[in-house]
Amino acid sequence: MPDVFADLVGQDEAVAELRRAAGAAAAVLRAGAADRAPALIAAGAAGEAAPEPGDTEPGALDPSTGMTHAWIFTGPPGSGRSVAARAFAAALQCTYGTGCGECPGCHTTMGGTNADVRMVVPEGLSIGVGEMRALVLRAASTPSGGRWQVVVIEDADRLTEAAGNALLKAIEEPPPRTVFMLCAPSTHPDDISVTIRSRCRLVPLRQPPAAAVAEVLVRRDGIAPDVAQWAAAAAQGHVGRARRLARDPEARKRREAVLAVPRRLTGVGAAFDAASALIEAAEAEAEASVSESDATERAALETALGAGGTGRGAAGAMRGAAGQLKELEKRQKSRATRAQRDALDRALVDLAGFYRDALTMALRAPVDPVHTDTAALAGAGAQKWDAEGSLRRLEAVLACRAAIEANVKPRIAVEAMMLALWKG
Ligand SMILES: [Zn+2]
Repeated sequence: MPDVFADLVGQDEAVAELRRAAGAAAAVLRAGAADRAPALIAAGAAGEAAPEPGDTEPGALDPSTGMTHAWIFTGPPGSGRSVAARAFAAALQCTYGTGCGECPGCHTTMGGTNADVRMVVPEGLSIGVGEMRALVLRAASTPSGGRWQVVVIEDADRLTEAAGNALLKAIEEPPPRTVFMLCAPSTHPDDISVTIRSRCRLVPLRQPPAAAVAEVLVRRDGIAPDVAQWAAAAAQGHVGRARRLARDPEARKRREAVLAVPRRLTGVGAAFDAASALIEAAEAEAEASVSESDATERAALETALGAGGTGRGAAGAMRGAAGQLKELEKRQKSRATRAQRDALDRALVDLAGFYRDALTMALRAPVDPVHTDTAALAGAGAQKWDAEGSLRRLEAVLACRAAIEANVKPRIAVEAMMLALWKG
């Protein structure tokens, strides 16, 4: 296995900072083993951690790059927020260095089986207070591996207010060996509360350049260079999406259908048809992505509940079981809604890329197109609409995304967008 940071594409500055912090954290552990004293915050904030002779970690002595107990990773979708958090967690559990990729600490963390690393992935639209309280409680226990308890909260922007408060309390009075890592699109107050933000160190990730994404697809996934380059450009810096486009014919087909929208908009009726098609495609994609896990979960719960049992107590057990099944269905419905929104948003990002191409061509800007395979079509659009018309259309797509984000019904927002795209 290569170094744990190998898959964090195009984020050299962030990787350097995380390595320095992991080095400082290791020094804290060594100092703790020597005199059992220092707590993490004191050592991290004041830079008191003194590495032993022979320590080769650069920057471990530098107070400004020391370790701290709460982190926020921000960046656009696909930039690798959770990849960065997981790699940093592995670096903290690494026995030999700062994420060697070889030792048991690195292996178990990257494989998702380290007992002291918890990745919290919200399946629904929000993370509730009950879930957060349980998590905070477990995070306070002594790390079984003798290093750090790490809690990674993916999509921390989906915390409910109550859950955010429960987390804040834990961050304000952290157990000595606990590290919290939050992932969010930005530090805007809509994403992360100002008080939580003020207590965390920020690691901003940028949208990785297409060349770096293509490189990792070739190296890690064995994808042919020309396919990797096309997919990296088409995915607009989203590493996971680029990989899917390169490998999954269905994903390519869906993208092609989305990019066919601009030439299908020949009238009002066609605009409404295109809206229906886009919504239904998102629903189908979401359905495909969650139906398998839904069925598996339901079967597992039914087995656990002993469905079909008879005899004394079975009736009472079944009443309790009905409640649990209902709870599961509620969770699954919430997850399906989110999957639909995510699928629709990906389609809108593709569409925005098309009009962005038309705009840059109309302006004769010296930049490469996002969608090389529809560049000719975008060029024809640029001639017909000019820069102003291209920009209006791009804005219509972005306005649709914003409306859905603000809870406008997706079908209504998409219909309004299609009409705007047709009229210009
Ligand atoms: Zn290691």
